[in-house]
Amino acid sequence: MGDVAVVAGGDILQEKMEKEINHVLVVPFPLQGHINPLVQFSKRLVSKGLKVTLAVTKYTAKSMQDRPPATSSSISVEPISDGIQEGEIIPDEETYLDRIKVNVSKTLTDLIIRLNQSSCPPKFLIYDSIMPWALDVGQKLGLRGASFFTQAYSVNAIYYHFRRGEIKVPANSENVTVPPLPTLSVNDLPSFICDPNSDPALVDLLLSQFSNFQEADWVLNNSFDQLESEVVNWMSSQWRIKNIGPTVPSMFLDKRLEDDKDYGLSLFKPDADTCLTWLDSKQPGSVVYVSFGSLASLEGEQMIELARGLQMSGSHFLWVVRDLEWKLPASFIEETSDKGLVVSWSPQLEVLAHKSVGCFMTHCGWNSTLEALSLGVPMVAMPQWTDQPTNAKFVADVWKVGIRVKVNEGGMVSREEISECIKEIMEGEKGTEIRKNSEKWRDLARNAVDEGGSSDKNIDEFIAFVASN
Ligand code: UDP
Repeated sequence: MGDVAVVAGGDILQEKMEKEINHVLVVPFPLQGHINPLVQFSKRLVSKGLKVTLAVTKYTAKSMQDRPPATSSSISVEPISDGIQEGEIIPDEETYLDRIKVNVSKTLTDLIIRLNQSSCPPKFLIYDSIMPWALDVGQKLGLRGASFFTQAYSVNAIYYHFRRGEIKVPANSENVTVPPLPTLSVNDLPSFICDPNSDPALVDLLLSQFSNFQEADWVLNNSFDQLESEVVNWMSSQWRIKNIGPTVPSMFLDKRLEDDKDYGLSLFKPDADTCLTWLDSKQPGSVVYVSFGSLASLEGEQMIELARGLQMSGSHFLWVVRDLEWKLPASFIEETSDKGLVVSWSPQLEVLAHKSVGCFMTHCGWNSTLEALSLGVPMVAMPQWTDQPTNAKFVADVWKVGIRVKVNEGGMVSREEISECIKEIMEGEKGTEIRKNSEKWRDLARNAVDEGGSSDKNIDEFIAFVASN
């Protein structure tokens, strides 16, 4: 390059430099918990010299313009379409999934054709694993493919075996063995495995991740090696599958990317000032942060038990209630105004990093789990569906960074149980042990993405592969 710089004229040099940049195209599925890890991975690639184009639906692109991702100067954002028109109510799941496949395939094809005509065409398509058909789109147009999994390795292993008919859940069975995972009770399995007929469209979507992943040149996963070492060893002995996480913004982990303080994209508007000012007024470690992510919604009776359980625990609480249509007990907000704050969306990372937060009551979505692990916040695990029960099992029994609530015979988590679990973490003996473990995992998470850590090396390996192909 140095020689060329002397010989070549400005335009020629510019063109040559552009050609030499390795360009990848990244396509997340348009859900908050899927966009965040792919955007964060994109930032890491950019920080290591890759050019990234992020193809997102128009609605997602619009929310990125409101809060552009930091360190994104080299991330170009290109809109693709999921077939939903502005103002249109999102149809039922099955129709939406069909529409997204047809429309993303078409608009992604158009985008790749256009980018292929540029001076720096993309070499790789990094696509969300729940859009396995994107691999065909990219391969037909000359791109290599990397499937990006946004769930735990253990969950990958369970879906993989289930799809192959290797996991059967007999009626009334108590335990299931899925080597090399620890023995799992039926309640630890992803919800759809126990009841595949509960949501056939979603089951198909989740299992489809494994339909062609062996045909991708790379498989990337948002986890880190030490977290799930046995299952990582088993899977990586069979496929080129690499952990590159946790994909939490750098300033909450290794602090190497100075501007990376935020995911930079929120499909919902956070009540940041209200949350942080309120937290500032509380004692260190005194607040329970409660959130069930962007999708789950609690039934009416469960909402009441949760509200009363928070009240009974005596702790301060910051509770994300996404939709106030979810019924809180009458006058709950007024009654608890000296103890609690209820918001519709929070700046979750800043909240978890705040010194006043002593525990996170979570549904154990994979991003929330990784965020709590990365920030060393003990958890009360209250899983709802999909992969959350499996994540909760690992939180409570393998990593020992939290307590999982018990569900009673009526399928409810009682107010007493909620209150006891919170007290155990905030004040109990078990809480002290859990806090120590949380600090250990926080350090391991940070080391994984820091220079020379396992995920950092895997990212470098991926980049070297892109460059050499
Ligand atoms: N989140 C947030 N504010 C909230 C609740 C959630 O910023 O009030 C973010 C959270 O930090 C995480 C994502 O939304 O990155 C939720 O992803 P997760 O996988 O935990 O759950 P899902 O929404 O997919 O069920």
